[in-house]
Amino acid sequence: MATPEAGSDSSPGHESRPLPNDFRIAVVGAGIAGLACARQLASRGGKVTVFEQARRPGGRAGTLRTESGNFDHGAKYFTVQSHGFERVVAQWLQQGTVKRWDGRVISIDGGKTEDKTASATRYVGTDGMISIARHLAEGLDLRLDTRIGSLVQTGSRWSLLDETERTPTPGGFDAVVVAMPSIQAAQLAGVTPALVPSLRMVEWRPCWSAMLTLQVASGFDFAGAFVEDHASLAWAAREIDAAGAEHWVLHATAGWSGSHLNMPSDDVAALLAQALAERFNFGFRPAFVAAHRWLYATPVRPLMERYMWDAASRVGAVGDWCQGPRLEGAYLSGDGLGAALL
Ligand SMILES: Cc1cc2nc3c(=O)[nH]c(=O)nc-3n(C[C@H](O)[C@H](O)[C@H](O)COP(=O)(O)OP(=O)(O)OC[C@H]3O[C@@H](n4cnc5c(N)ncnc54)[C@H](O)[C@@H]3O)c2cc1C
Repeated sequence: MATPEAGSDSSPGHESRPLPNDFRIAVVGAGIAGLACARQLASRGGKVTVFEQARRPGGRAGTLRTESGNFDHGAKYFTVQSHGFERVVAQWLQQGTVKRWDGRVISIDGGKTEDKTASATRYVGTDGMISIARHLAEGLDLRLDTRIGSLVQTGSRWSLLDETERTPTPGGFDAVVVAMPSIQAAQLAGVTPALVPSLRMVEWRPCWSAMLTLQVASGFDFAGAFVEDHASLAWAAREIDAAGAEHWVLHATAGWSGSHLNMPSDDVAALLAQALAERFNFGFRPAFVAAHRWLYATPVRPLMERYMWDAASRVGAVGDWCQGPRLEGAYLSGDGLGAALL
């Protein structure tokens, strides 16, 4: 396994000593938190294997590939609040992993439209948000398409079983980091009672996301719009691809998403497309429309702990639900545990 350059993306402020030789760690979940953790551990000499159920890394900061092009169907952009993360993002900018997003952002509320472009410095992945996950995953042993169903402890080592009760890697691990929404983490880390009560404390909100490609360009001049006054629509982002096609990503409000959780995705996509047409008062015929349900989109009240770690069982948990419900929070959580382990 190639090892990422030691500490290359690391945020400052924590000690990171080398791990013992042959210390094997499994990270379950290749979202930003899991990858940041794995990268930090690998940079300290840990033998890390990352397991991801999806075909691509990134999780909620991923990019969906469709017959109509790529869509950032989770996080469209991210912002920076802490100095530690600022340093990391400066490296990502230098390496070409991310770029500033200077698109016009507005908010609409009744008859009032406000320009929010200057309200924050926003960043996006250079080739979609998946660029960040791809960068973090460089050199890591990443097993995609592998859903972990349970953790089993034998003596001092952990084995991971997939859904067919088979272990995708023989030999076992000295430690396991579970890097996913806390509700899912609680199911997997149920064998570690010390972690479960905290994991169960965090409530989550869902979000339906719809993706559209228009046959004819809308003519709007904004790239993103916060919709403050609509029952179903909370956010709309549009971009023109290299071939001139206009793509939109819509996020539904948490309330509407919650009350339409089990609606078929085609129906959700049609309803959100209709909401877009109504709210922005324009008619269009979509060339493509689809929807994706994020069952665990946003943690309501994060724990305000950087990460969770049970030294007795050597099982940890990281994610945006620890400290902050954004990409930055996910990164700092994973990186923090990676640096502090042992
Ligand atoms: C609609 C939406 C809009 C957002 N907008 C923004 C924004 O504008 N700015 C911002 O900063 N943040 C935004 N966020 C939040 C941001 O995307 C998240 O905070 C961040 O990506 C969370 O990363 P994570 O690693 O903690 O979790 P996740 O991204 O959820 O990663 C968990 C990973 O674990 C995998 N997994 C789960 N269970 C298993 C299993 N049993 N076996 C194997 N793999 C498993 C999942 O497939 C996933 O890849 C948004 C999120 C959503 C959903």
